[in-house]
Amino acid sequence: MSKQVDVIVVGSGPGGEGAAMQLAKGGRKVLVVERYRLIGGGCTHWGTIPSKALRAAILQVVEASANPLLKSPDAVSRASLSDLRRSAQSIISSQVSLFLDPHTVQIGDELRVAASAVVLATGSRPYRPADVDFSHPRIFDSDTILNLSERPHTLTIYGAGVVGCEYASMFRNLDIKINLINSRSSLLDFLDDEITDALSYHMRERGVVIRHNESYSRIEGTSDGVVLHLHSGKAIRSEALLWAAGRTGNSDQLNLSAVGLQADSRGYLSVNQHGQTAVPHVYAVGDLVGQPSLASAAYTQGRVAGRHLLGLGDAENHLEEIPAGIYTSPEISCIGQTEKQLTEAKIPYEVGIAHFKSIARAQISGQTVGILKILFHRESLRILGVHCFGANASEIIHIGQAIMAQEGTANTLKYFMNSTFNYPTMAEAYRVAALNGYNRLF
Ligand SMILES: Cc1cc2nc3c(=O)[nH]c(=O)nc-3n(C[C@H](O)[C@H](O)[C@H](O)COP(=O)(O)OP(=O)(O)OC[C@H]3O[C@@H](n4cnc5c(N)ncnc54)[C@H](O)[C@@H]3O)c2cc1C
Repeated sequence: MSKQVDVIVVGSGPGGEGAAMQLAKGGRKVLVVERYRLIGGGCTHWGTIPSKALRAAILQVVEASANPLLKSPDAVSRASLSDLRRSAQSIISSQVSLFLDPHTVQIGDELRVAASAVVLATGSRPYRPADVDFSHPRIFDSDTILNLSERPHTLTIYGAGVVGCEYASMFRNLDIKINLINSRSSLLDFLDDEITDALSYHMRERGVVIRHNESYSRIEGTSDGVVLHLHSGKAIRSEALLWAAGRTGNSDQLNLSAVGLQADSRGYLSVNQHGQTAVPHVYAVGDLVGQPSLASAAYTQGRVAGRHLLGLGDAENHLEEIPAGIYTSPEISCIGQTEKQLTEAKIPYEVGIAHFKSIARAQISGQTVGILKILFHRESLRILGVHCFGANASEIIHIGQAIMAQEGTANTLKYFMNSTFNYPTMAEAYRVAALNGYNRLF
């Protein structure tokens, strides 16, 4: 059977959703093709949402066990993983789509659909090296870890990127002994140094064993666990292993050569600022184009591609100002430049810091671990970066983001110094940090 539409969108995660919604609102006839049995993408079914739902459930249990009013100090040890788990693993349908020629996509066995444009939003998956046996019942990756049926006493996490650090925090909160193996010399080195140091400190304080500058030579699955052999000669034993070292773009099943496109060695496609690949009527968005590989960014990238296809400008989107939200314990969020970047660029900046322990709202809620740090230009007072760790950091950051996006002189430290904030709130940390920074100028 053959059909004709205006645009085919392949993949229904946030990238595909952003593009499809924009195009449908613009009056285009859009076909969304999804190989999974439900729409929503990896984001909804095996990535962002299930991991954050599990995290929220674990934090509730941790809070309950720490709350003397609830009298349940053993809440953490009593909680089973199946109780905590919120998502079910489902079966991938055979509705895989691939290109037949530059304007025609084959869907399943029978349907061929032609369109004047195609938006590829097929996402990414965990990178699986051939020498690791992912069929072993105790070796998991970030797509399968949510199938863990029993709580192991020990877990090794190989890879200390965002996913590795988030799961390390989450499982440590369940009192599982964690080995976090990092191939680099510090955790999440794209963050501000002070935030990275704080994360390492708090993870270690909670008992996570972090090993930097390590790489695996062999991973051995045994009947009762996994042994991770490192090039440094160490052998780390644990009851289970989570592989969290890298991802690869879902481009291999698309028959890209029929369009004249080629992905890079990690399966990612290159695009311009509108989301167009080297073949102008084929767009790619979301994880398929590599960094920043965030659900938040994927949605915006989809909208940008949709707007471009509709002939609208993309000035309303702020793709260059994407915040990072990292759901470790403590939570981390940031936007803009780091101290390291500003120093390298020789930009004269100053720092203002508010410690959560001195903010009334944090004292009331008992969540006093954390800082809010504002980096600003010494002369213009323009805000150059905001970095935060502590409870609700990923929400708090958006106040800074909103001010940074303002035009002219409205994006300076003065906004925070001169505004009255509700009291007690965490927003007050902005005023405290702004005054702290301003006072350092004199
Ligand atoms: C454990 C984990 C936690 C995360 N946490 C966060 C977070 O807290 N915040 C955040 O912003 N991001 C987070 N991310 C990243 C986020 O999930 C991704 O950036 C986002 O899902 C990318 O969206 P996408 O639309 O590009 O792809 P996806 O959401 O992966 O969707 C791609 C869709 O395409 C479909 N598909 C693939 N190939 C085909 C084909 N050939 N034919 C038809 N359909 C196809 C897939 O089935 C899938 O439904 C997390 C990721 C992981 C793994």
